[in-house]
Amino acid sequence: SSRVASRFSLIEKSPTYAILDLAAELRAQGESVIDLGGGEPDFATPDHITAEAKDALGTGFTHYTPSRGLPELLEAISDKLLKDNGLQVNPAQQLIVTPSAKHALFISVMTLLGPGDELLVPTPSWVSYTAMAHLAGARPVFAPMAAADRFRITREALEAYITPNTRAILINNPNNPTGNVLTPEEAEAIAGSAADHDLFVIADEIYEKVRFRGEHISLATLPGMAERTVTVNGFSKGYAMTGWRLGYVAAPQDVSAEMLKVQQHTVGCAGSFVQRGGLAALTGPEQDIERMTAAYAARRDLLVDGLNQVPGLVCARPDAALYVLCDVTGTGFPDAASFTAWLLREAKVAVTPGPAFGPGGEGLVRLSFASAPQVLQEAVDRISAAMARL
Ligand code: PLP
Repeated sequence: SSRVASRFSLIEKSPTYAILDLAAELRAQGESVIDLGGGEPDFATPDHITAEAKDALGTGFTHYTPSRGLPELLEAISDKLLKDNGLQVNPAQQLIVTPSAKHALFISVMTLLGPGDELLVPTPSWVSYTAMAHLAGARPVFAPMAAADRFRITREALEAYITPNTRAILINNPNNPTGNVLTPEEAEAIAGSAADHDLFVIADEIYEKVRFRGEHISLATLPGMAERTVTVNGFSKGYAMTGWRLGYVAAPQDVSAEMLKVQQHTVGCAGSFVQRGGLAALTGPEQDIERMTAAYAARRDLLVDGLNQVPGLVCARPDAALYVLCDVTGTGFPDAASFTAWLLREAKVAVTPGPAFGPGGEGLVRLSFASAPQVLQEAVDRISAAMARL
């Protein structure tokens, strides 16, 4: 019998971390590995944000804050949600500032689901939702979307997997790894399914600001959805603040009250000076976000156009987020995992195999374009040269 709790028999090590570990191992052996496996913006956090956090540290702002978060930051988040998303929330009763969007998602899943409950996850999807459902003792259920339809969410595809045990649908909009931005039709399909089956929706909107095309729709703003939607967002991607670990979650008041208990009994609160940095991010100039998003769009094009020149690769241009999905079925490899392993060995480029993102990811690999343009160009050159040697 295992020395740890039985739930761990169901939880796999994060496949994105597994690739990072393998790349690190090769690097330790002296190889120069280009890592396009993660989703880490290479930009520095904008100066006005770090300056505010430094000031907080320098003036002794280094203690606990209320568990929900700094009142000024809660206000700023509520202003942002109203201005950017058309979402009206009471900052003192419906918002919680969390140490990362990941933790916001974790307390959402922990609060809404328990043993016997199912979390419906349209796939391909980000890797951690499944593990979070298992940690809550619930069951993740994949609803694969059609590759031929570019993984657009349809009511039929969702409802094929709804059972009497389904409690919530997890929607990542914009989506990692597909780069899709929800259309009004998709949003309506999700809202319709949620209402008809009395389900919660957990909306992970972490890539809201890294968007090149399409309007951002917050599902909580659709008619009747405020009462059944939990909206998660954070600072990591839009503001290049991955290491700060700062996010937030907006929820109906009764749900938020229970979520707060999870926060209180696990982390207490997000870092005090980190929250001051978040306040500067939300109340400061927006030019930095615009500059970074424009740079990401150019990098996306560099990667998509470069890879599409390589015989055997077919890569879609994403509307948002930091990733390109390439179809590698034309390369002659039996599956995405063997292509990925070969690529790391022969081209020294680390990418993520599509099946890591659940059903629908077969035959695909995901490459991140969060790296500098010269790094992306070098990756394209290496992939192209390795493929030519095949
Ligand atoms: N949600 C998605 C879809 C992500 O891709 C990521 C990070 O990779 C996160 C959430 C986590 O964000 P944070 O750094 O705030 O925990």
